[in-house]
Amino acid sequence: MGKKKSKRKPPPKRKNIEPLETQFNCPFCNHEKSCDVKMDKARNTGRITCRVCMEDFQTTINFLSEAIDVYNDWIDACEQAN
Ligand SMILES: [Zn+2]
Repeated sequence: MGKKKSKRKPPPKRKNIEPLETQFNCPFCNHEKSCDVKMDKARNTGRITCRVCMEDFQTTINFLSEAIDVYNDWIDACEQAN
């Protein structure tokens, strides 16, 4: 079984991704926009919490990090766990 390289595919529905988007779909309960990201730049910590299933994840950020980076880290961590 060959491993396919992931291709970047734009989502079909929304073309305009707002730069300050901080709500994301939950990889655990699959609710849309149920995950809120909090950026604690003083502590270099980003935290994302799903308000539906209460899953949460914390990662290290820097001053360039955006909410989407925290979310992507979460997704990566989920994929590694599987
Ligand atoms: Zn959830």
